[in-house]
Order: sequence, then C-alpha cells, then structure tokens
Amino acid sequence: MSRFEQHVILITGGGSGLGRATAVHVAKEGARLALVDVSEAGLAATVEAVQAAAPDAEILTHVADVADEAQVAGYVAATLERFGRVDGFFNNAGIEGKQGATEEYGSEEFARVLSINLSGVFLGLKHVLAVMREQGSGSVVNTASVGGIRGVGNQSGYAAAKHGVVGLTRNSAVEYGQHGVRINAIAPGAIWTPMVEGSMRQIDPQNPEKAAEQFVQANPMKRYGRPEEIGSLVAFLLSDESTFINAAVIPIDGGQSAKY
Ligand code: NAD
Repeated sequence: MSRFEQHVILITGGGSGLGRATAVHVAKEGARLALVDVSEAGLAATVEAVQAAAPDAEILTHVADVADEAQVAGYVAATLERFGRVDGFFNNAGIEGKQGATEEYGSEEFARVLSINLSGVFLGLKHVLAVMREQGSGSVVNTASVGGIRGVGNQSGYAAAKHGVVGLTRNSAVEYGQHGVRINAIAPGAIWTPMVEGSMRQIDPQNPEKAAEQFVQANPMKRYGRPEEIGSLVAFLLSDESTFINAAVIPIDGGQSAKY
C-alpha cells in the first residue's frame, strides 16, 4: 500500500519519539520527508531509521526552533525549495517542562513551555496553512495530549499549551475546511519515548523505573503506547482515507482519558 506516493510530509519534532515513528511509517508508504528539529543528532538518527525501513525515501532535514518565527518561515521555505509543496504537516514538536504544583510553578518556565508547545504550533499553522490554501489541499495533524483535554496535575505550562493546541486546531479547521485543507489533533496518553522517560525521572529521581510501573497501572490497558501506534493514526489522518475528518481531537491513550 502506498498512500503517500509523491506526497510531501513535513514533521516537526522529527528527531525523536512520535515524529521519528511517523516519519518511518509514512516513508514506508512512499512519502518524501521534510524533518525539522532543534537536535541535529536526533535528525541524523531519524534519517538512519527511515533509510533502514525505506531505502529510497527522499529526506530533507532542517534544524530549527519552532518557537522562533523566522526559523519557522525558514523550515517552510526550505521544504518548498526542495519539494515545491506540502501535502501533510505533523505539527508535533514539544517539551514537557518542569513538573510542580501551580504555586511553585516558575513563571519563566510557564512562558518557555508555552512558547514551544503553543506558539510553536501556531507559527507552524500560520506558515504552512498559507501554502496549503494556495495549493487547495493539505492535511495537518497537531499534537495535543491527554493533558490538553483533561486535568492531569502538576503541569501548568503543559496543560495550558495543550488545551491551547486543541483551540488552535478547531479554530483553523473552521477557517480552512472551505479551502480543501483539514486540521485535526491527536491527544496521546503516555507513549514510551524519551519525553516520558524524563517525566518518570522527575516524578521519582531515585527510582524512575518504579514510577514508570506505578504510572502504567492507571492505564486501562496496563501498558505504555508505542510510538509506532501514534505513527499509524497520524498516517491515517494525513492520508486520503480520512477526507471528511476535520477539527477532530482524537485520544490515543489506551482508554486513559475515559477515567479522569
Ligand atoms: P521526544 O522528546 O521524544 O521528541 C520531541 C522532539 O521535539 C525532540 O526531538 C526535540 O528535540 C524536539 N523539540 C523540542 N523542542 C523543540 C523546538 N523548540 N523546536 C524544534 N524541535 C523541538 O517527545 P515525544 O514523546 O515524541 O513528543 C512529541 C510530541 O508529543 C510533543 O508535543 C509531546 O508533548 C507530545 N506528547 C507526547 C506524549 C508521550 O507520552 N510521549 C503524550 C502526549 C503528547
């Protein structure tokens, strides 16, 4: 099956976790990739993973900070220069930020998390949607979180940003549906990536393995999600198999959000 033959898929946060798994998934189905990340080493590791799975894949890598508008304009320009279009956009880069009760949550940390997780998503939408409107086609998937649809606690910046991503998704979907462009969001629960490993180190620096085990017991499926499982959903939303899905916010969490 080659759902993405000749399609250009742009992925932020392409140097790790969910971005990398999605890159591998769509490349196996024929996509040409533009991968963006702050981490050059992360991008290089993703290129290796993609080439192992899809040796003929065309790949552009571009180091950029999604919180900086000039750099966002830069990654879109680089993608257009190389491929001439953007068919799918996984607007995904993000950080967890420090955990802590609201009264202890640093104001600078709050601003930092919002600048990457919320402004970064807005800036991506702003610059990519202009291209897709001109094309008259395109599909965008924004990465929200269970923390964007439920209260998880100890994550003021993350929760505010991810609830904001849900708002941005619905707002832009209402605007751009008429132009043949769809915008949806995914709301992952705990998926085993470097971000979640870091989270467990914050919860219990002495014994992160125990924290990880306790955390997973709260999930109805008693396990973490795998990045490849996110890749499948994102690929579906970016593909022509989901042509009437717009403005949706789809949990992918083993049922976790049903319990809160
Ligand atoms: P990850 O840490 O494995 O990957 C995130 C990638 O984003 C890294 O390669 C990092 O270098 C990059 N990045 C960070 N800040 C950036 C910036 N300013 N500009 C460009 N790139 C930047 O984490 P992940 O689990 O793959 O997370 C991806 C997205 O999924 C994030 O938005 C995260 O909030 C969200 N999410 C993850 C989980 C989970 O359980 N893993 C759950 C819900 C939502």
